[in-house]
Amino acid sequence: MKAAILPAFGQPLLLEDVPRPVPTADEVLIAVEACGVCHSDLHIIDGDTPAFRTAAKPRLVPGHEVVGKVVERGASVTHLQIGDRVGVPWIHWACGECEPCREGNENLCRRSVVTGLGVDGGYAELMRAKAAFALKVPAALSAAQAAPLFCAGITVYRALKNAGVAAGQRVGVFGVGGLGHLAVQMAKAWGAQVVGFDIGEEKLAFARQLGAGHAIDVRADDAVKQAKALGGLHAAIVTSAAKPAYDMALRCLRPTGTLAVVGLPPEPLTFPALALVGSEARIVAAAIGTRDDVRAVLDLAASGKVACRIEEVPLADVNEVLDRMRRGAIRGRMVLRCC
Ligand code: ZN
Ligand code: ZN
Repeated sequence: MKAAILPAFGQPLLLEDVPRPVPTADEVLIAVEACGVCHSDLHIIDGDTPAFRTAAKPRLVPGHEVVGKVVERGASVTHLQIGDRVGVPWIHWACGECEPCREGNENLCRRSVVTGLGVDGGYAELMRAKAAFALKVPAALSAAQAAPLFCAGITVYRALKNAGVAAGQRVGVFGVGGLGHLAVQMAKAWGAQVVGFDIGEEKLAFARQLGAGHAIDVRADDAVKQAKALGGLHAAIVTSAAKPAYDMALRCLRPTGTLAVVGLPPEPLTFPALALVGSEARIVAAAIGTRDDVRAVLDLAASGKVACRIEEVPLADVNEVLDRMRRGAIRGRMVLRCC
């Protein structure tokens, strides 16, 4: 089978013919129909993140937004049939026994194994997956539509959930890109009044088109004032990786508002204590998500309330996609067609 292999950090991926993977007793073999390309993949491939460098297996096949059909199953797998369409998230396996796992936070498992990092991922025609972590995809969704939901989708879903977003609240989404455009739709689906924050009329129009009642250009001198004029934000979801977005988001909160950390600036976030104390602001974060989060997001998408903006390309074009991502020249989510 064909697979895109990382020969060494910072090198282009090599499309090679490799032996067909053989699933173990608790695994399934998936014919990968679609695999989303995530910013984390780029960090893994470029080797610029120490934690990823340590965790990456040699000759890694990246990819953790995977959807495909079950073509083989191990001896102990009973709940999945050959031909079932399933998706696989970032978490390839979690122990189920550590404290976070027992508390329902398997995304924080101390012993977890990550798809497309500790084990081979979906930039390939075939991929092995733990059957318990291969989740059925509703028939209403195409493989390409569903794939990005397994990382981008659940990440923003969990951020909104952790921020306690509820109907009627004013929710700001900072950065209406690959993650943010999903956050706008989800917050809207939950009955929130959404305010999109980005740069330039095109992005602001996109936010409105997705259901944001207001859209604010962060370059405007009175951007914070505009948010305050609406009453301030109950929650600010920052998907941008720019530190100034966080600084602005905090200032746009109403008293007792919540700042949700999703985007990852390289430098530390710094907030004046007085600004936090003075408004009893809360800061929460979200780390991808659990299988329950995946199911909730798939349901939202299957009901038509959330649709990921995607661009599909063949697996063979993966290096070009990664180059475009390095240049910041991608709209929505890129999805590889793998077979
Ligand atoms: Zn990801
Ligand atoms: Zn665990």
